[in-house]
Amino acid sequence: MARRSRYAPNNLPRPHHWMDAAACNGAPVALFFPVGSGGVPAAVDVREAKRFCARCPVQAECLRHALTVREDYGVWGGLDENERAELIRKARLEAERRRRRERQKKKANAGAAA
Ligand code: SF4
Repeated sequence: MARRSRYAPNNLPRPHHWMDAAACNGAPVALFFPVGSGGVPAAVDVREAKRFCARCPVQAECLRHALTVREDYGVWGGLDENERAELIRKARLEAERRRRRERQKKKANAGAAA
């Protein structure tokens, strides 16, 4: 998705942003936000969007952005909304497991010290 300034014309200098190097610059935005979450047309759009992402030099930055600001819709960083939701779910589970292990470790250390 090409970055456009809301505040200044695009011919004015502005700081470099990862979106400037996006492979999808100039591509139809609708491709990345297919109507509906299922069906053949949406699946074809998603596949086509992911083809852009596969050759995008800023794929990691794009995915990081989408996960950080919780982009709920569309293809970002090569993943569709369901794949990103799954990634977030797994990260939450892993964080919860880590916290539980740390609590158990602290409890065990406190027990050994007593
Ligand atoms: S990873 Fe995909 S959606 Fe993100 S900037 Fe690149 S081509 Fe666009």
